[in-house]
Amino acid sequence: MSEHSENSATNGNTVGNPPRKMRVLLETYGCQMNEYDTELVKSILEKDQFAIVKTENEADIIMLNTCAVRENAHRKVYGRVHDIHHRREGRPVMIGILGCMATNLRQELFENRGLKIDFIAGPDSYKRLPTLIREASAGEQAFDLTLSEFETYSDVFPARKEGVNAWIAVMRGCNNFCTFCVVPYTRGRERSRSVENIVGEVKVLAADGFKQVTLLGQNVNSYRHEEHDFAHLLEEVAKVPGIERVRFTSPHPKDFPDRVIDSIAANKKLCNHMHVPAQSGNDRVLDMMNRTYTRKEYLDLIAKMRAKVPGVALSTDIIVGFPTETDAEFEDTFTLMKDVEFDSAFIFKYSERKQTIAAKKFPDDVSEDKKTERIVRLNDLQKSISLKKNRAHLGEIHEVLVEATQTAKSETEIQARNDGNKIVILKAGPEQVGDILKARIVDATNYVLKGERV
Ligand code: SAM
Ligand code: SF4
Repeated sequence: MSEHSENSATNGNTVGNPPRKMRVLLETYGCQMNEYDTELVKSILEKDQFAIVKTENEADIIMLNTCAVRENAHRKVYGRVHDIHHRREGRPVMIGILGCMATNLRQELFENRGLKIDFIAGPDSYKRLPTLIREASAGEQAFDLTLSEFETYSDVFPARKEGVNAWIAVMRGCNNFCTFCVVPYTRGRERSRSVENIVGEVKVLAADGFKQVTLLGQNVNSYRHEEHDFAHLLEEVAKVPGIERVRFTSPHPKDFPDRVIDSIAANKKLCNHMHVPAQSGNDRVLDMMNRTYTRKEYLDLIAKMRAKVPGVALSTDIIVGFPTETDAEFEDTFTLMKDVEFDSAFIFKYSERKQTIAAKKFPDDVSEDKKTERIVRLNDLQKSISLKKNRAHLGEIHEVLVEATQTAKSETEIQARNDGNKIVILKAGPEQVGDILKARIVDATNYVLKGERV
């Protein structure tokens, strides 16, 4: 890399010309928290005189913000690093690995794979990125993987994309130690931001024109700051004038006290959609996963949600092929999904993650073929349920929030979203992004609803 000074991120210093800022491309893999963290990193780097660019060709530095939750995410990142080196042959580029993979795979990244990584920063170390880049430019192996007990970024305002929705991290980390999950190791212990700090940020977002906020956390509904719990936070955020919709992800079923459900029922701004990750429908598997609820307790929670919030949209996460899961135990997951009829579901094959309790104690003994067979059956089931549930909306009138004035498929259609988090496609009209309108649902696939203005 070209030389650059210790105090400013500049490059190509030509006499008489102002020094050029070093240009950074950021790529994000994984969950919304990573999308949000990328926005934080952009803000940190821009303050330090780096320039953010959009294409690989323009970049002096490429940072991959990674996910370690499932194996396919980290395979993608390895592939991408090789790809960058291959395409940039002869033109130097620095590569940095950020996020969960950084924490999880430090040794492998630097030593075992010959991946040519210049620096590594864990999820709590982004403020140190400018320093790490400088150390790496000086030829040092630069990394910081310290995990913090406190929220590290309360004073950083993310460089957000324009749009209707702003993500906002309200807590980080997780104390639950589900046996399959790497998050407690890569993201550390739970810590929450104060209600005042969050509400302050939401007020700025409203002033900037955002209509919706999505509160984020690895285990968002276990939010707690001093005497304030998640229900209080939801209510306070919903009070901010200008914010029309409040969503949250990703919650755990154990942290849905009545007050949270009652608030969602009573407050129009709190969207009628709850994501309730079940993971399995079998008690022995749930116990091995350390999920802390039984099938019956889970089903009771779903029944309560439906009783208190009529018409609530429900979604879930499922893992198939957890170690020792038998055909009969898998059938319990199948019947759970069939009985509950979720509006949508994210279904994953179990993938063994280093450091986790399952990796240490339970051999990954369900064959790949079995996992495939199970995931295909659940995906087919869910598709038919989603179609049935979407078709049940035909003729209803929904309030929808416009997200885009054209769709990926057509410039003459707009994309909006209803309260239950379903995409509604309408013919283009005078509406702008952020407008709310009423639409009659006239058609449905398993994925989207089609609407007409009323
Ligand atoms: N906190 C949420 C909860 O308690 O359910 C989930 C957050 S987790 C980061 C996102 C989803 O990834 C999980 O719900 C789970 O279905 C999936 N997942 C996590 N670890 C996995 C693994 N080792 N193999 C397959 N899927 C996994
Ligand atoms: Fe992972 Fe969610 Fe379990 Fe925490 S609660 S360990 S984030 S699956």
